[in-house]
Amino acid sequence: MRNMMGNSSHGHIDVAVVGAGILGLAHAFAASRRGLRVAVFERSSAPLGASIRNFGMVLVTGQPPGLMHALARQSRELWLHLAPRAHFSARETGSLLFARDAREHAVLEEFMITRARQHGYDVSLLQGERLAALYNGRFRHHRSALHGMRDLQLYSREAIPALVCYLQSQGVQFHFNTLVKEAGDGMLETSAGDVHAERTVVCSGHDYQTLFADRLQAMQLKQCRLHMLRAVAQAPLPLTHAVLTGLSCTHYGAFADLPAAALLQAHIKEHSPALQRHGIHLLVSPTPYQELIIGDSHHYGNDALPFQQEEVDTLLLQLAEHTLGVNLKVVERWQGVYGAKGPGPFSVLSIDDQTTAVLMHSGVGMSVGLALGERVMAALISGNNLPDAARDLF
Ligand SMILES: Cc1cc2nc3c(=O)[nH]c(=O)nc-3n(C[C@H](O)[C@H](O)[C@H](O)COP(=O)(O)OP(=O)(O)OC[C@H]3O[C@@H](n4cnc5c(N)ncnc54)[C@H](O)[C@@H]3O)c2cc1C
Repeated sequence: MRNMMGNSSHGHIDVAVVGAGILGLAHAFAASRRGLRVAVFERSSAPLGASIRNFGMVLVTGQPPGLMHALARQSRELWLHLAPRAHFSARETGSLLFARDAREHAVLEEFMITRARQHGYDVSLLQGERLAALYNGRFRHHRSALHGMRDLQLYSREAIPALVCYLQSQGVQFHFNTLVKEAGDGMLETSAGDVHAERTVVCSGHDYQTLFADRLQAMQLKQCRLHMLRAVAQAPLPLTHAVLTGLSCTHYGAFADLPAAALLQAHIKEHSPALQRHGIHLLVSPTPYQELIIGDSHHYGNDALPFQQEEVDTLLLQLAEHTLGVNLKVVERWQGVYGAKGPGPFSVLSIDDQTTAVLMHSGVGMSVGLALGERVMAALISGNNLPDAARDLF
């Protein structure tokens, strides 16, 4: 062993966390609030992965009933606990999902009279005068809007670094620019030396090649690549809600298996093949600075190709301009990548008695990650069952 960093210069480590994305931070927070000594190892100089590239939507409404809905509700409370302490913005205005026509409206109606009632989704369907009252009638051209009252809006590029600072103030050690090359049986081999920790939680996002490569390869995981835009409206638009359209009903588990959503999906496939081809459904997130984050496209593969087709950005902008009723000017573009296509929406893998890996396989880590970290740490400490997406989902 080279140069032991764990016990000498940094003291005893109860929990080592690999990765400073939202999942790593969630586990660090859950361990630290239980009085454990925590060290986080992150290969980059700051969190630069999926957790700062996203829309910052904490979507409770979109989650399927059961475990994911429960995780999102619990995560929402944790975000609201952390926001004033770590000094980041968490808007509680909720989301507006606009049905642009009768087909999209049919999905919302079915959702309201079936699932929303049965499973206690906190939503309201706005039509007629209530729709017209929104933003001085700006959204009158839509058929209806589902107001997701529990959905939160974060600005991730600020919230994630603020969370790091807060955890540092609570005694969590952060080792940036430190790649973890191997982890197991209470040892971590890092680019800055070897470390001993009582327990290790690996939250390495969509990197399937550095740690536990054989096990992850056998799971046939994929990466999902997304086009992301930051834009400013060319006329005053003081938007405070996250915005979605009926297209999102074919994407999110709360709606996607409803019969009306299947009809909508078939219609999109036939009449809007480009949206289908690029996996596009519109999401718009207002930032605290009167700007809008716009996406959401999906291209899946073993690796995220670097090439971004202009057609995708054009389609996203057209959808956003029609939905918001305003012209937009793009001020920034980036590529987002997240882990996808696993055996469920996430996996909690027991690597050995002291090592656990927690990976998201769907694009909802900001919505469920804090609660997942809380439940995994609670289970590891108590010896109870770890959360299992396959077992607990329905
Ligand atoms: C464009 C986009 C939009 C999205 N929008 C939303 C949204 O609005 N709402 C929502 O709920 N979810 C959203 N998601 C999904 C969400 O962002 C992810 O599910 C979540 O961020 C995954 O968190 P993570 O910590 O697993 O991964 P990451 O944030 O990618 O973090 C993993 C970290 O591990 C580090 N790492 C990996 N291997 C090692 C190693 N061996 N040693 C040291 N460090 C290592 C990486 O450098 C990285 O910083 C979106 C994702 C994208 C890409």
